[in-house]
Amino acid sequence: MAYKAINPFNGELIREFPNAIDAEVETTLKNAHEFYLEAKHQPILEREKMLKKVADEMNANIDYYAKILSLNMGKLFNEAKQEVVRTVEFAEYYAKNGGSLLKDQPYEIPNNYAYVEYDSIGAIMAVEPWNFPYMQVMRVFAPNYIVGNPTILKHASIVPEAAQAFEEAILKAGIPIGAFKNIFADYGQVNKMIADSRVQGVALTGSERAGSQIASEAGKNLKKSTMELGGTDVFMVLDDADLKKAVNDAVLGRLGNAGQACTSAKRFIVNQNLYDDFVDGISAKFAKRTLGDPLDAKTTLAPMSSKSAQQKLQGQVNDAISGGAELLWGDNTPIEGSGAMFNPLIISGITPDNPMYDQELFGPVAQVYKVKDDVEAVQLANNSNYGLGGAIYSKDVERAQNLASHIETGMVAINQTMLSHAEVPFGGVKRSGYGRELSDLGIKEFTNQKTILYK
Ligand code: NAP
Repeated sequence: MAYKAINPFNGELIREFPNAIDAEVETTLKNAHEFYLEAKHQPILEREKMLKKVADEMNANIDYYAKILSLNMGKLFNEAKQEVVRTVEFAEYYAKNGGSLLKDQPYEIPNNYAYVEYDSIGAIMAVEPWNFPYMQVMRVFAPNYIVGNPTILKHASIVPEAAQAFEEAILKAGIPIGAFKNIFADYGQVNKMIADSRVQGVALTGSERAGSQIASEAGKNLKKSTMELGGTDVFMVLDDADLKKAVNDAVLGRLGNAGQACTSAKRFIVNQNLYDDFVDGISAKFAKRTLGDPLDAKTTLAPMSSKSAQQKLQGQVNDAISGGAELLWGDNTPIEGSGAMFNPLIISGITPDNPMYDQELFGPVAQVYKVKDDVEAVQLANNSNYGLGGAIYSKDVERAQNLASHIETGMVAINQTMLSHAEVPFGGVKRSGYGRELSDLGIKEFTNQKTILYK
C-alpha cells in the first residue's frame, strides 16, 4: 500500500490506505462527468454558496484540520492552523468573486460584435504535493468548481489523511461527490485518467521530475495542463536595505514550513556592504530555533516531511560541501532515529561547477552569496533554470521595481517574503512550470474561452 500516513516526528505509522481498484477509477470518472453535465444547467450563484459552506466548515474546525497536517507532514501546529485559514480565504475569494471573474468579455471589431464567454471543459486531474496539503488542493478545486469543472485529486502518498479530510470538508458542505473526488490512485491509473476523454485538464504542483512526466502524459493526449513546480528563489538584499527587516524575513522565508515551500527563500544574494552583518543576523536567529514535535507549542522548527526527504537533503548538502561549498554555520551531523529532524544550516561558496548549483534544496538550508552590486545580483539570480518567485529588499522601492523587471521569474516580492494571495496570479517560468493559479487568471486556465460573434 503506497498511501501511508507516518508521523515525521517519530516515524510511527498512523494509518495506511489501500490503492484504488480500477472500478473506482471508472466510477470516479463517471461521477465527475455527470457533475460536469449537470453544472452546465446550474447557476454559478449556487456553487458560490456551496463553496462558502466548505470555507465555513473548515473555519469552524481549524484545530481538527490543522492537527492532521502536523501528523501527516510535520507542519508546526501554528503554521498548520495558518494553512487552514489561508485555505478558507482562497475558498471565500472564489465564493465571493468567482461568478464576476467569469463574466463575458466584450471585444471590439469593425462592423461586428464579439465577446468571449468562459465555459466549463470537463474534469480536471489534480496531482498535488504534500507541503501545503489543503491550500494546494483548494487552489485547483475552488476556481474549477465555480467554473463547473469537477476535480479528481491524486494527492501525495504521504498525506492520505489530509486528502481524506479535504474530501470530508467538501462532503460535509453538501457538495456532490462528482464535483470532487480524492482517489488513492497509482501512477498508471493517473495516466489512464489523463488519457480518458472525460478528463480535459491536468494541474500538477510538485517537483520538476513529476512535472515533466505528467506534462508529457498531458501533451501526448493533447490535454491542457498547468505546472507549478520547484524553484531556487532568490532573496536579494541591496546595499540600502533595512537590514533588521531583511534578516527577520530571511529567517521566516527560509525556515517556514521547515524550508519546504516552493517559494521559500533559497538563495540569499547580499550586497558586500551588508553581507557580514546579514550572515551574523540570520545565524543568531537560526540558533534560537528549537527542533521538535510540531504539536508541542515550544517547538519552533518542524521536522521535515519524511525520512526520505531528510535523507535526500542530507545527501545534497554533503554533495554541495564535497563540491567545494563551505558550511558557514550549523551542525551538519545527521540526526539519527526514525524521525525526520534536520538541523538548520547556512552554506556559502556554491559556484557554478558545484553539483548542487541550481538544485532546489527543499529544507532548512540557506545558501548565501556575496555580490558587489545590483548588476551582479541580477546576473546571479537569472543564472538558473528555474523561475518561480523571488524577493528584493531595498529602501528605494523604485530601484527594487526596476530590478524586479529584470528578474526572470513569475513573481517578485519587494520588502516582503513571497506569499500567495487569492487576488493575484501565482506561477513560474522556465523549469518552474507554466500556467497561473489564483486570481482571474487562475479561474480561466481550464475554461473554454469561447468566442461568439453576432450582428
Ligand atoms: P513530487 O514528488 O513531484 O510529488 C508531487 C505529486 O506528484 C505527488 O502527488 C506525487 O505522488 C505525484 N507524482 C509524482 N510523479 C508522478 C507520476 N509519474 N505520475 C503520477 N503522479 C506523480 O513533489 P513533492 O515532493 O510532493 O513536492 C515538492 C515539490 O513541489 C518541490 O519541488 C516544490 O518546490 C514543488 N512545489 C511547487 C509549488 C508551486 O506552486 N510552484 C507549490 C508547492 C510545491 P506520490 O506522492 O505518490 O509520489
